[in-house]
Amino acid sequence: MLEVKDLTVSYGAVRALGGVDLSVGEGSVTAVLGANGAGKTTLLRAVSGLLRPRSGRVELDGADITGTAVEEIVRLGVAHVPQSGGVITELTVQDNLRLGGLWRRDRAALARRVADMYELFPPLAQRRSRTAATLSGGERQMLALARALTGAPRLLLVDEPSLGLAPRVVAQLMAVLRRLCDEDGRTVLLVEQNARSALSVADRAVVLDLGSVVADETAAAIAADDRLRHAYLGF
Ligand code: ATP
Repeated sequence: MLEVKDLTVSYGAVRALGGVDLSVGEGSVTAVLGANGAGKTTLLRAVSGLLRPRSGRVELDGADITGTAVEEIVRLGVAHVPQSGGVITELTVQDNLRLGGLWRRDRAALARRVADMYELFPPLAQRRSRTAATLSGGERQMLALARALTGAPRLLLVDEPSLGLAPRVVAQLMAVLRRLCDEDGRTVLLVEQNARSALSVADRAVVLDLGSVVADETAAAIAADDRLRHAYLGF
């Protein structure tokens, strides 16, 4: 569904990604792992159109979307959940959710999608009239995911959802990502520093180091590779 080919991205003189290849199959969870500064966030931002690569291609369903405007990439079914969620703390849970699907224009469908999100994330239903500022870290991350899902994306890009959360909450979030693939047929590209958690739900994983891919294997193969785990994954 998603192909990244020989992608190079620089911030001025700093090369964040150098010739990265990545292939993401429809209906799968693919994890992007690696230490701080490996280039994981840069990769997600280049896929969702927030950054223009210096060279290389991003293809969605075989069509070249490199350099396409962000709003067009959203319309093609790609949603990006940024690091620490990016929910609007001054707005209520309900309004944050509605914002995620507002661009779709079909208001009845949007109301249905919001109701679906309350089913998927019951704690949000109980807090629908509160501002997002009153939510716990885990609830905010749920809201960020739910907001992206109200746009009914086919490909969900999620940047470090586990950051700062308790292990139990992380496990719940990972289980939701898995269900989105297994039950709804969505595709997830998951950036994580918490490699152990990500590998527990991913089908495949790529490991980045200093902007290059050092491994691209099934999640099981990466989890079983002691050398990779010790050198790059910290467990
Ligand atoms: P983290 O987990 O810390 O977010 P990451 O793997 O997501 O790490 P990136 O944020 O993609 O890594 O950063 C890759 C490299 O690009 C790093 O060397 C970083 O310092 C550099 N970098 C990232 N953003 C910028 C920026 N806006 N300007 C200059 N350099 C940047």
